[in-house]
Amino acid sequence: MGLLDQEDVTLVAVSKTKPKAMIQDLYDQGQRIFGENRVPELVDKAATLPEDIEWHMIGHLQRNKVRDIVPFVSMIHSVDSIRLLRKINAEAEAAGRTVDILLQFHIATEDSKYGLTDQDIDEVMAIVADADHVCARGVMGMATFTDDKEQVRKEFRKLKAIYDRLLLDYDMPSTFDTVSMGMSGDYELAIEEGSTMVRLGSLLFGAR
Ligand SMILES: *Cc1c(COP(=O)(O)O)cnc(C)c1O
Repeated sequence: MGLLDQEDVTLVAVSKTKPKAMIQDLYDQGQRIFGENRVPELVDKAATLPEDIEWHMIGHLQRNKVRDIVPFVSMIHSVDSIRLLRKINAEAEAAGRTVDILLQFHIATEDSKYGLTDQDIDEVMAIVADADHVCARGVMGMATFTDDKEQVRKEFRKLKAIYDRLLLDYDMPSTFDTVSMGMSGDYELAIEEGSTMVRLGSLLFGAR
């Protein structure tokens, strides 16, 4: 793509609100992973665009919409509650598959951002260990929307520290390999702080 030189960082092209023709264009240039944040839009795009696209759900997911995406979604980044985690496991079992998920942690100072907190970790990891139809692949987080680079760096560092701690304390397998952090405005910082997966929208597709 030219944007990312680091070959060990996976690029999720965030195509929310963008027309299918733009996704097809990027697909034709070789991109295969696309991220969406709304279920109806994701379902519609997945039904008509090439079958080998790996669709990532990156936005807050309501439990009553889980069933709509579980049959085809490649990864859910936004597992931000214990109830949602249980629901995804149940729906994946019903659909006869295992779904890759990321545990979304609240790292920003803003109240509005969803996510798990330190207090949830024990319970979440107990469910992850038991749940046969989700595969926990790592963590995801969004930094505060601010120009203060040190603040953003601190938050990314916190997410990486949570990841490292989970890996160690819960003896996670080598498939627990993903730290999804970094968007158009802060992805370089995120990579410096250990991101393995960045989610870029406006940088690839233009402003929304
Ligand atoms: C929209 C969105 C992005 C991409 O944002 P850009 O600033 O356009 O790169 C990344 N992650 C999530 C969760 C989003 O909702």
